[in-house]
Amino acid sequence: MVIKRYKMKTIKILGYTYTINTTSKKKVEGFSGRADCSRHILYISPLICEEEKISTLIHEILEALKVHLDLQISHHKIILLENGIYTILKDNGIDISKLLRNKKRAKNRKRLHNNRKIHNI
Ligand SMILES: [Zn+2]
Repeated sequence: MVIKRYKMKTIKILGYTYTINTTSKKKVEGFSGRADCSRHILYISPLICEEEKISTLIHEILEALKVHLDLQISHHKIILLENGIYTILKDNGIDISKLLRNKKRAKNRKRLHNNRKIHNI
């Protein structure tokens, strides 16, 4: 079993708390991302570049909105919206990349803090 040392970021979508999983290669096999709207997980492939991860995150958010709002829109339109929103964020300097970075678990932080304390003595 793999010990997860990182706490994954979450994003609230229409009141649902979605976990943003950026580490699973298996769950996104062959794709850049996947939205699991029953378990509330957005998977972003770890194998793609930062820009593509951000664009994919926007895409998967739109996929979740489509499901929860029962929107009758084609996948092609989701891609157009993804590109549109990505461009707006980029052109206006709005950085959402922090949503892709896992936080170290509190336990690790505590250990680091303790180490620092020891070094200071
Ligand atoms: Zn899609």
